[in-house]
Amino acid sequence: LGAAATGGVAFFRPESNAQAVRELQLAAALRHAIERNELTVLYQPQVSLASGQIIGAEALLRWHSPDWGQVSPTEFIPVAERAGLIGAIDDWVLRQACAQSLAWQRQGLPLVRIGVNFSPLQFQQGDVAQQVQKALLDTGADPACLGVELTESTLMDDPVRAAAMLCELKSIGIEISLDDFGTGYSSLSCLRSLPIDVVKVDRSFVNDVTAGPESASVTRSIITMAHGLQMRVIAEGVETEAQLSLLLAKGCDQIQGYWFSPPVPADEVARMLAEHRCL
Ligand code: C2E
Ligand code: CA
Ligand code: CA
Ligand code: CA
Repeated sequence: LGAAATGGVAFFRPESNAQAVRELQLAAALRHAIERNELTVLYQPQVSLASGQIIGAEALLRWHSPDWGQVSPTEFIPVAERAGLIGAIDDWVLRQACAQSLAWQRQGLPLVRIGVNFSPLQFQQGDVAQQVQKALLDTGADPACLGVELTESTLMDDPVRAAAMLCELKSIGIEISLDDFGTGYSSLSCLRSLPIDVVKVDRSFVNDVTAGPESASVTRSIITMAHGLQMRVIAEGVETEAQLSLLLAKGCDQIQGYWFSPPVPADEVARMLAEHRCL
């Protein structure tokens, strides 16, 4: 059965026996990854195009397994979702991010908002607002330093429930970003009833932005539409100066990508903040 035939639920069909075995072994290893200190969080700076300053950072998970080496999140996150481990992992990342923002604040560094990714499963099945509230209470972190990143498929699966959950997050003071925008099927106007603060234009669009007038005008319309809906726009995966200047010309608000910095350890972000490193 394809995803469409099962009402949007995609079942895992291993391509081969070897792949199925690897998945089982990865899941078993992942089960102990937190307690064995194999997970780390890197932070990728997000820069304002108006001020040139770092105003945020995305928390990105890394796993170094003694048996498997460095495993990409694009491989282990889906494994964690299927093994029922993603809830605990996302919660761990959330708490790391809270602790990190508090640490930066105590070092007297400029305030940055840390964006945390939430798996669709976690958002649809758990009470993310309550989870965030609890993490803030337990760590003493400031909600102004926290954001959540969700994809449109996560939100459109059950828009009524999503709207209620987002409103609750907003009332706590959490910023909401729409991740990977442009890769799904909904237009921004479908999402206008949701309290979204930031639209993250997917890397695939940013990659093409300098390829020709069509891509540039698609990007311009996303930016115009987002601004019309009182949302800010951040371009993901900005790798070249040409992309940067085009995005600047089109009125994009923020950028994130290798051009400014890849995801780096927290200490390195602290150094950048202390030096007031800017674009
Ligand atoms: P994402 O949320 O879209 O994260 C952005 C990805 O783009 C990251 O890949 C980042 O390293 C990469 N990236 C940033 N700038 C550039 C650039 O200039 N060029 C290129 N080519 N890539 C760039 P990463 O870290 O491998 O993460 C992949 C995906 O794994 C993330 O995509 C997200 O969906 C998921 N993920 C990562 N950490 C977590 C987490 O803590 N929880 C959950 N649920 N998912 C996570
Ligand atoms: Ca993200
Ligand atoms: Ca993204
Ligand atoms: Ca993604």
